[in-house]
Amino acid sequence: MRTLLLDCTYFPIKVVSWQRAMILWLTGRAEVVDVYQEIDIRSPRMQFKLPKILRLLARHKSSMKVRLTRFHVFTRDDFTCQYCARQFSMKELTLDHLVPLSRGGKTSWENVVTACQKCNGKKGNLLPAEAHMQPKNRPGVPRWTPQLVLRLTDQDPLEWRDYLIWDADAA
Ligand SMILES: [Zn+2]
Repeated sequence: MRTLLLDCTYFPIKVVSWQRAMILWLTGRAEVVDVYQEIDIRSPRMQFKLPKILRLLARHKSSMKVRLTRFHVFTRDDFTCQYCARQFSMKELTLDHLVPLSRGGKTSWENVVTACQKCNGKKGNLLPAEAHMQPKNRPGVPRWTPQLVLRLTDQDPLEWRDYLIWDADAA
């Protein structure tokens, strides 16, 4: 079992062993974002769930450019569907390609926006002009910093996906 370690701004830093994760958590250097529901750690005095995602509380210095992930696109768009202008939880949101992939669109900051499932379904394979659906804000590269490329293995939790760099092949 491994734990995804995020910095204080939710950018992934690295994957650590659960033992390392427990030390970071129990010494108060990190907080739990998500746990492995099915796994209980027991000791004579306490019982708790193994952390699936941890967030470091102290600021982690980084000078890299922000990477394209679902979470970062949702953050850029303030978790707001760019078509109906309503806010949703991360689980309810999808990414919409302004120019659909099937029509030569790229997965880039300029071509990807946050959309709710209903609006995404409605827009389907159309261009914004064809669907008469223009995004609320013109999409672009966000102005914050960040993170390393992390690749998922089959054993890693699906929930990590929201924090990792967009992998067009896995999309
Ligand atoms: Zn919508």
